[in-house]
Amino acid sequence: MFENKVVNIEEIATGKFLLTFEKQFDVKAGHVVAIAADESHQPRIYSLCSGETEKFMQILFDLKLDGVLSPKMAKMKPGDVLFVSKPYGSFLPENESAMWWIATGTGIAPFSAMLQSGYKADKLLHGARKASNFYFERDFKLVLKDNYIRCNSGKDGLGDYFGRVTDWIEKQEKLPVANKYYLCGRALMVVEVRDLLIAKGIPYENIVSEIFF
Ligand SMILES: Cc1cc2nc3c(=O)[nH]c(=O)nc-3n(C[C@H](O)[C@H](O)[C@H](O)COP(=O)(O)OP(=O)(O)OC[C@H]3O[C@@H](n4cnc5c(N)ncnc54)[C@H](O)[C@@H]3O)c2cc1C
Repeated sequence: MFENKVVNIEEIATGKFLLTFEKQFDVKAGHVVAIAADESHQPRIYSLCSGETEKFMQILFDLKLDGVLSPKMAKMKPGDVLFVSKPYGSFLPENESAMWWIATGTGIAPFSAMLQSGYKADKLLHGARKASNFYFERDFKLVLKDNYIRCNSGKDGLGDYFGRVTDWIEKQEKLPVANKYYLCGRALMVVEVRDLLIAKGIPYENIVSEIFF
């Protein structure tokens, strides 16, 4: 773990924060870092949402009120010290085959990193329960246009589809079988979407998952 400094912190939706910190190493879109607030606790893992060539590194995090790290991070100010690992991971985009990106909640983070690094998806499904949780929506809409689909499973009536990402997928008659499907979010969603894709004829090896636990 390497000592690092907070550059900025912003609450972009209730209990959801964008934390910007120094960039000490080269990074690939899809990488994660391990973070600790001090040496007394086990580091937690976070996906980077910033692009490969950006000056700073950034994460989008969920405040777990009873958690160890996120309440500490939520109170940080520019100049405060964090401990951050070298970026690593295998949830990396490909150029050889077209990609579909499927995320719920803060699981959108690695897809923001991919977009900011110049990668594109044929389709991006983002599931959330509130319109305010479609993070980075302006950036995605600008590049992906109608292929960016906000699946709103809540009641505030803002989105492109009203229901869960699994409902949207279930309704599709055919899915492109040669595409790579990138799934990111909580375990339950990733497992449900994976099973659904396989039932719809997508080969297992075309499904790449990153689980937030
Ligand atoms: C590859 C990967 C990437 C990730 N990327 C992101 C990301 O980009 N953004 C993001 O917000 N999250 C991400 N996560 C999830 C994040 O790492 C966890 O939510 C992390 O545990 C939060 O740390 P914390 O110290 O705040 O909470 P923790 O102290 O780890 O607690 C997390 C939750 O678990 C509960 N808990 C703790 N101990 C126990 C126990 N013994 N029994 C039952 N429940 C318990 C707590 O009450 C709390 O609700 C990622 C995880 C992985 C694996």
